[in-house]
Amino acid sequence: MKIIGLTGGIGSGKSTLLKFIQQNGIPCFESDKVGKELLDTQLKKDVINSFGSFLYETGKLDRNKLAELVFNDSGALNKLNNIVHPAVGRVFEKFKVKKRDNPIIIKESAILFETGIYKNCDLVILICAPLEDRILRVIHRDGSNREAVLKRIVKQWDDIKKRPLANFIIENNKLEIAKYQLEKILTKLLIH
Ligand code: ATP
Repeated sequence: MKIIGLTGGIGSGKSTLLKFIQQNGIPCFESDKVGKELLDTQLKKDVINSFGSFLYETGKLDRNKLAELVFNDSGALNKLNNIVHPAVGRVFEKFKVKKRDNPIIIKESAILFETGIYKNCDLVILICAPLEDRILRVIHRDGSNREAVLKRIVKQWDDIKKRPLANFIIENNKLEIAKYQLEKILTKLLIH
């Protein structure tokens, strides 16, 4: 079984193309989504111990407060990553065992390169899209403003740094063309 990483910056189209992969019956692990779920459940105690219970005033994690807390504090961000990443890793190990009869599984994460997790993948697919398109797509999707989107984008690596590390690159300008590129990649991966 091969582990295929799927990554791309915010608004590049990961979730959109992942749906297409899932429709093709390929098991997909959504790292960021799993991380978010764990923060509301089994990691709640660890987060409260590290940062305080004010983050869970409503019972659920206040993501805005957490973002504010770690945004300009690399120490706090490291602390949070040390809680979340190993826990997501453990869930992924179980996922791998469960899906072991499949020729390929997909591991999706926005920060696959930034975290170094790509080194545990056999191959990596990177989704790219023009910066301005990504900004407008996220504003449209989340109802957020340009400044907020840019703030998140600058925290991630630039595509220029990611491109040489990827085995396959999908240019997600027109969705139909991106899907076609993805289909070709999946066929290649499933044949070899
Ligand atoms: P994030 O990192 O924030 O989770 P993402 O990479 O998963 O983002 P998506 O949510 O898949 O990105 O896409 C962002 C938005 O852009 C969505 O509303 C999606 O429907 C739209 N979108 C994706 N691809 C295209 C495209 N080629 N043309 C137009 N809109 C697109």
